[in-house]
Amino acid sequence: MSASSFRTGLLLCLLLVSGCSQSPELVRHRQFFALGTLIDITMYDIDGAAAEQAGLELEQLFMRMHADWHAWQPGILQETNRRLATLEDFPADPALLPLLDEANRLSRLSDELFNPVIGKLIALWGFHSDERPDGPPPDNNRILELVAQQPSVTDVTLHDGHLRNGNPAVRYDLGGVAKGYAIDRGIERLRARGIDHAIINAGGDLRAIGRHGERPWHIGIRDPRGPGVLAAIELGDDESIFTSGDYERFFDHDNQRYHHIIDPRNGYPADSATSVTVIHTDAATADAAATALFVAGPELWQTVARRMGIRYVLLIDRNGTIHMNPAMQQRVRFDTEPAAISLGEPL
Ligand code: ADP
Ligand code: MG
Repeated sequence: MSASSFRTGLLLCLLLVSGCSQSPELVRHRQFFALGTLIDITMYDIDGAAAEQAGLELEQLFMRMHADWHAWQPGILQETNRRLATLEDFPADPALLPLLDEANRLSRLSDELFNPVIGKLIALWGFHSDERPDGPPPDNNRILELVAQQPSVTDVTLHDGHLRNGNPAVRYDLGGVAKGYAIDRGIERLRARGIDHAIINAGGDLRAIGRHGERPWHIGIRDPRGPGVLAAIELGDDESIFTSGDYERFFDHDNQRYHHIIDPRNGYPADSATSVTVIHTDAATADAAATALFVAGPELWQTVARRMGIRYVLLIDRNGTIHMNPAMQQRVRFDTEPAAISLGEPL
């Protein structure tokens, strides 16, 4: 994980913990690293033994998802990509199939601005590595070649539990949705244990259920160009809040920033937004939508949000203007009043 997402995670932990200080005995945490980031489980109003058991179950669950869905280490996703590249039928792995289905659905909904099969492009940019990404940017012709092959989820078909791919450019990278999907699975496990007041926070992206005692959960939205919090927001019972930003994973080359959210239409890092925050019920949709709306930028975000059924969006463009729909504006409390706000139509 990057140092900055680590900071985001810490920031949110601190916010949550400080909010919890009146009754610390009611709040339990478990933290571990998975899916490239710090996972923090907060459980409210639960005894120590129950929290311990639930925390252990979730840690094991996340570790398995981490191994199965990793984009560049050996595992089920890598094996699936290898077999997709053969363009022949093969049995889909049940540990991956529901996530692939969900990623494919969200890709179609987003007009493929969220595109989980551009793994070859992401690798070409050097973001499939445990090392810090580094310049120079890849050769323009190689980028254009991959874009021209138009890898799309519609190239992948499923029949009787068998997958088949018709486009050699297709390679899955689930980095834009896996965290959200994993959080949804984690919340299901907590509920199955009767835990109804909790947050699963993955490096600042999170889903919250229930309440913090008498009051709702309070969450900070990070300032993409500064060390602190841009705004605060209250989450209702069962909401997810996800942010995609250009500060999470990037390298600078010749005074230009190249980051990890790629516009599938031209193969280059999407450059019209610096950060997009989305609130939605389920975390998988919020995750994919934050990535899609980041690519959509200030011109297209409302169209794509409507298609994806998203009701709350805050987008910061590269000039620092904050774009929001009116329902989002009602909910955010800015630390300092922003210099420029562009209010959209209701979604
Ligand atoms: P983060 O993981 O930093 O919270 P995102 O959810 O936006 O941010 O996911 C970014 C990751 O998604 C990239 O690292 C890459 O693996 C993948 N990705 C990049 N561009 C796209 C895209 N247009 N559609 C789908 N996935 C993408
Ligand atoms: Mg995402």
